Amino acid sequence: MKIAFLTGSQYLYGEETLKAVEKDSEIICGELDANAPRVEIVYKGTVKTENDALNAVKEINYDDEIAGVMVWCHTFSPAKMWINALKILLKPLLHLHTQFNERLPYAEIDMDFMNLNQSAHGDREFGYILNRLRINHTTVVGYYKEPDVMEKINKWADFTVAEAFSKQLKIARFGDNMREVAVTEGDKVEANIKFGWTTDYFAVGDLAEEINAVTDAEKEALFTEYTDKYLLNTSDAEAVKEQAKYEIALRRFLNRGGYRAFTTNFQDLYGLKQLPGLAVQRLSASGYGFGAEGDWKTAALVAVFKKMGEKRKGVSVFMEDYTYDLKRGEELVLGSHMLEVDPQAAKTKPKIEVHPLGIGGKEAPARLVFDGIEGAATATSLIDTGLGFKLITAEIELVSQPEKMPKLPLGRLMWRVKPNFKDGVRAWLNAGGAHHTVVSTALDAEDIETFALANGAQFEHIG
Ligand code: MN
Repeated sequence: MKIAFLTGSQYLYGEETLKAVEKDSEIICGELDANAPRVEIVYKGTVKTENDALNAVKEINYDDEIAGVMVWCHTFSPAKMWINALKILLKPLLHLHTQFNERLPYAEIDMDFMNLNQSAHGDREFGYILNRLRINHTTVVGYYKEPDVMEKINKWADFTVAEAFSKQLKIARFGDNMREVAVTEGDKVEANIKFGWTTDYFAVGDLAEEINAVTDAEKEALFTEYTDKYLLNTSDAEAVKEQAKYEIALRRFLNRGGYRAFTTNFQDLYGLKQLPGLAVQRLSASGYGFGAEGDWKTAALVAVFKKMGEKRKGVSVFMEDYTYDLKRGEELVLGSHMLEVDPQAAKTKPKIEVHPLGIGGKEAPARLVFDGIEGAATATSLIDTGLGFKLITAEIELVSQPEKMPKLPLGRLMWRVKPNFKDGVRAWLNAGGAHHTVVSTALDAEDIETFALANGAQFEHIG
């Protein structure tokens, strides 16, 4: 994807100054592009008139390759000429407040220099009009060669790529919401308007039909891949092969319809022998968003977070707060799910095991079992408040489990809540945060806040 770079100026200062604006902008843009490994930053010219601004924004809006736009004012650029363009801008905007020169040339500085190098002046005018028009945007301040400035630009660029992805995201729901559960519900029309998410329902029979169409040869080939990649810790190969069929069928079904996220519901599995476990884990690890029990909001958020972190270190996975170790002062959360924990969060080589579930009344499902990764992370919940959406992000520290849990046949994570268990969890409960979350070691609270605010959602940060 690309980021468009626009420079603000005007005709007031004459040809020589405008030539310098052009040249300096190309240098800055080239430097930024060279340090943006995950996107291409393209100079789209200097805006000197209302028409320049309008034409640039029209092009940016309709070029699917452009994920966002950066604006910097080298000189003063009267902001009335930006109004009509900004009013029709459909993509994320970053206001880069930088300067071509790092130091003041004290011995040489004259009025020509002052006319050319006045972003301190021009960017205040631009910031005012963004404020006045109430345009959501990100502001980055500092000399453009500083690594922390570049880091903020790169983080924002990842957000723009995820935002473009979100605006076209389709979620397939096999079955509806788990009966009687409140927090996994929500206004799908509003989510479509705000986040761009289309959520389509499918009867699980549609999936069953797809599963029945999987050939034995396809099933056997995928089973071989499983045994190459994981430790087979069961004698029940047939149960594992059943999940291989589910994986092939799900992938086929989702790809055919352009779905990058999906949900299942263990109360609605007519025509399936097992709850999809291993199959869901494998799809999660290859980039699909997943939410259990019909939780389309979390499924979508997992997909968007995976996209935002796609080219970073770290992972984003579907997770559920399950149970606690309440040892005073060292409280820990044990997070997992019935089966569907993303093996991207595995610290150990996953083992394939087959165990009964205890609920749902189906055959014993195959799943990947592993201990979780460690390190700083965020846990984010997306809820429908009835007045709109809210993202709640908690700072957590993933830790190694203090003791082995040999009888727990699940992938699992354990973490410490920040700033401490009682305050962190109380804040989460008071905010209305759900039990389903996206745990991410790739995204920080700033990334998530940017996404929330850009989509008209509230944001709460706990930590
Ligand atoms: Mn759940």
